[in-house]
Amino acid sequence: MKIGILALQGAFAEHRRAMERLGAEVCEVRRLRDFRGIDGLILPGGESTVQGKFLREEGLLQPVKEAVEGGMPVFGTCAGLILLAQKIANDPNVYLGTMSVTVCRNAYGRQRGSFRVTSDMGAIKDFPMVFIRAPYIQSAGRGVEVLAQVDGRIVAAREKNMLGMAFHPELTDDLRIHEYFAEMVRRA
Ligand code: GLN
Repeated sequence: MKIGILALQGAFAEHRRAMERLGAEVCEVRRLRDFRGIDGLILPGGESTVQGKFLREEGLLQPVKEAVEGGMPVFGTCAGLILLAQKIANDPNVYLGTMSVTVCRNAYGRQRGSFRVTSDMGAIKDFPMVFIRAPYIQSAGRGVEVLAQVDGRIVAAREKNMLGMAFHPELTDDLRIHEYFAEMVRRA
């Protein structure tokens, strides 16, 4: 299994370590040629506006969008979720726009800029969730399975081959969510 990790900006190294600990082959994706022969793609946290700009400049936006629409498993965390969203409530941009969710950026305000809670994500119980200037999912389309909610807000969801979450599983030692994604890739 070969997993591509978008490595234009943000927390890609932490995702790399997590997938390598699970025994996956990992490839950092910076340009179009890195994007060949991968079985799944991770979109890390960071700054969605910067990542979106680089995706366009590298000519990666359209090929990634087409691959995701074609069924390639993709896992977006935080800024990566924002890249996947069909709509951003408080920002006119749309990047990949493949996932039927509306997200709100920087949704927790300054006081709760970053925080940690332990909560369930579906069958994954008591996961340590780290939020950093996080978005949340304000609304989700009919085909979207809500996987986790915190304070009544949706913070993790799946739609077909797309897994998106507001928090950063790569910043903990807990590999269960990366394992969940690896299983999505295996089954694809
Ligand atoms: N606030 C960032 C954005 O809007 C996301 C933060 C993160 O990825 N930790 O892109």
